[in-house]
Amino acid sequence: MSPDLEAVLALQAEDTIVAQLNGKLRAIDAKLKALDGERAQLEESLARARSTAEQEEKKRRELAIKVEDHKAMQERNLATLDVVRKPKEATAAMAQVDMLKKVLTQEESELHSLSLRVHDVHHAIDGQQKALDELDARQQEQRAAHAAERAGIEAELAKAKSVRNERAAHVPKSILLKYERILSRNTSNVLYPLRGQACGRCDTAIPMQRRNAIAAGRAIDVCEACGVLLYAAG
Ligand SMILES: [Zn+2]
Repeated sequence: MSPDLEAVLALQAEDTIVAQLNGKLRAIDAKLKALDGERAQLEESLARARSTAEQEEKKRRELAIKVEDHKAMQERNLATLDVVRKPKEATAAMAQVDMLKKVLTQEESELHSLSLRVHDVHHAIDGQQKALDELDARQQEQRAAHAAERAGIEAELAKAKSVRNERAAHVPKSILLKYERILSRNTSNVLYPLRGQACGRCDTAIPMQRRNAIAAGRAIDVCEACGVLLYAAG
């Protein structure tokens, strides 16, 4: 095996390690994103419950004021009823008292249901807040574990990159340029061995002359079909 080929295969071996470490970092990022998503969902549902509570409380407050107004009105109606003497006026005043009594009964019943609803929504909010707190406590541990794992991988990655750069320095410029170009658009390997008379990756037949040059170790050639670098193994 020619020293150039040896150098570029050594580079590829280290780049495989770099790619694996980058893959691990992406996996951790995906886990963190999942944690964020889980938390956001709970927060959204909590925000919705709070907004419902606000609306129901506003309704309850407004209705409570209305009830107070109607109660005051009813007191005036009853006072009027006390002082009217003519039967016709008494009948009219009584009708007004009765009508408002019905309205008040209806409103107070609504007020009661609204109070129950507000209470229920607050109960739900407390439950959701508790769930969010528990989630945060649980996620804090998970996030700390992910951060520690990430730091370890980043340290490994820095080492692997420095090894990779050192190895790249031993690869001739012309080969390195091709290699880097293929690496930048390809997530799989850059170098593939010839398999019989064909490219080891895409199985396209390689013309004999070029195949012979590769086999003799005189060239690390590009597969014209799939664009990887070809070499003769062993
Ligand atoms: Zn090919």
